[in-house]
Amino acid sequence: MSTTITETRESELLASVPDGLFIGGQWRAAAGDKTLKVYDPSNGEVVKEIANASPEDGKAALDAAVEAFPAWAATPARERAEILRRAFDLLQERKEDFALLMTIEMGKPLAEARGEVAYGGEFLRWFSEETARVQGRYGANPEGTGRMIVSQHPVGPCFLITPWNFPLAMATRKIAPALAAGCTVVIKPAELTPLTTLFFAKLLEDAGLPKGVVNVFTTSTSGAVSEPIIRDPRLRKLSFTGSTQVGQRLLEQASQGVLRTSMELGGNAPFVVFDDADLDKAVDGAMLAKFRNIGQACTAANRFIVHRSVADEFARRVTERVNGFTIGRGTEDGVTIGPLIDDRAVAKASQLVQDAVNRGAKVATGGNEIDGPGTFYEPTVVTDVQPGSDILREEIFGPVLAIIPFDTEDDAVRLANDTEYGLVSYVFTESLARGQRMIERLETGMMGLNMGVVSNAAAPFGGWKMSGLGREGGAEGIHEYLQTKYTLTPNP
Ligand code: NAD
Repeated sequence: MSTTITETRESELLASVPDGLFIGGQWRAAAGDKTLKVYDPSNGEVVKEIANASPEDGKAALDAAVEAFPAWAATPARERAEILRRAFDLLQERKEDFALLMTIEMGKPLAEARGEVAYGGEFLRWFSEETARVQGRYGANPEGTGRMIVSQHPVGPCFLITPWNFPLAMATRKIAPALAAGCTVVIKPAELTPLTTLFFAKLLEDAGLPKGVVNVFTTSTSGAVSEPIIRDPRLRKLSFTGSTQVGQRLLEQASQGVLRTSMELGGNAPFVVFDDADLDKAVDGAMLAKFRNIGQACTAANRFIVHRSVADEFARRVTERVNGFTIGRGTEDGVTIGPLIDDRAVAKASQLVQDAVNRGAKVATGGNEIDGPGTFYEPTVVTDVQPGSDILREEIFGPVLAIIPFDTEDDAVRLANDTEYGLVSYVFTESLARGQRMIERLETGMMGLNMGVVSNAAAPFGGWKMSGLGREGGAEGIHEYLQTKYTLTPNP
């Protein structure tokens, strides 16, 4: 499909995106008519001005979610499922609009934005199917003195906070299981990419979602508006995707009300290539694991731990592929690398590469910021990264592929696990036994074994260690929004 997009097409789409807060089924201005600007990272231009919520708007959003909760929780599962299914169908009809909107506000190439619409949509379909599968148990207790009933109940009004890197999928991955479980929500998208969530709220309205079940506020003062919501005793659940640092702060706030929490936090994924790997597969996997979303994914491979005997050949092949990338605005034909989200992201990639070089690494390709407009950084390969380099410890969140050689399987495992994070790992080997050993030894919640992407709505997504708490997607995902009750009754 051609990706040539006209300016008229873009301005018509942007005009159709709501600019207000969505509270209790109404679109409204923020208190005091405050606004915030949304930018296109490929050129720094303002694309839209939208409502900028204050704490009183946040409270109004929670009020609406609390009010709507009893009726939504009592709505038959099939009715809730049908609304989610209608939302899935509407998303298919509007997929080109959603993809373009994400490319405009976030910068990813249009082909990748289409991929995100497909992935994000699957959570609507998956959880529409899970809605009717929430089940309990009934049976005699072991002593024979009574009957036990175990039932599942929606946890209550939820607060969902999402990051900027996957504006649609991070929202559907939380909203769909919450609604499926019978919960109502307040959602706060990242201030850098709020338009997709506003556009999605409109879609939910069109799908027939009752008023107040989903409420959206956008703000440039996330901390000030969010904290009173998290500390409000009527809130029963906080689900956050973002950095570990912010997640830790929110966990402290959530401890006051002993809130249920789900935390999808940072990653520092190892990508291990053994000497018995199929290098073609490993290079294909590396391109996906590293450069998808311009490296701005929590699942992005951060450290390429490659057996010394194949490290040069692997570096040569990935460098060749990287040199074939086309950099530009994501709407342009053939573009494979878009801008980073902002100046800070460019500065971070740049500093990490500089630090690695200062400690002895070599730049095989790239390594430079690209002059504006827009916040671009060259796709980069660095080899011979030395222990102690910042790039091995910190999330890069940019298009930088860093290679560190290893000698033995034990060394590879030690290097891979040498991080406070534990979200995902990637392992390339043609040996089944070695692959099985890696499943047992690597400390991550997910693993791609000869695969460079693992995300799937039907699978439990989540991390070990400081990468988070809880799981999104799969059969597990809905349980994050359910609470269990056990009742003892006499024998009949
Ligand atoms: P971030 O932590 O800066 O922001 C995430 C969200 O939290 C945004 O909506 C932001 O506005 C909000 N926020 C920031 N400070 C807040 C506060 N004091 N109170 C309430 N909300 C606040 O992260 P980011 O830069 O938007 O996203 C990148 C990070 O997200 C990376 O660390 C990445 O690994 C992580 N991430 C994790 C997953 C996962 O599933 N594990 C998925 C995507 C991104």
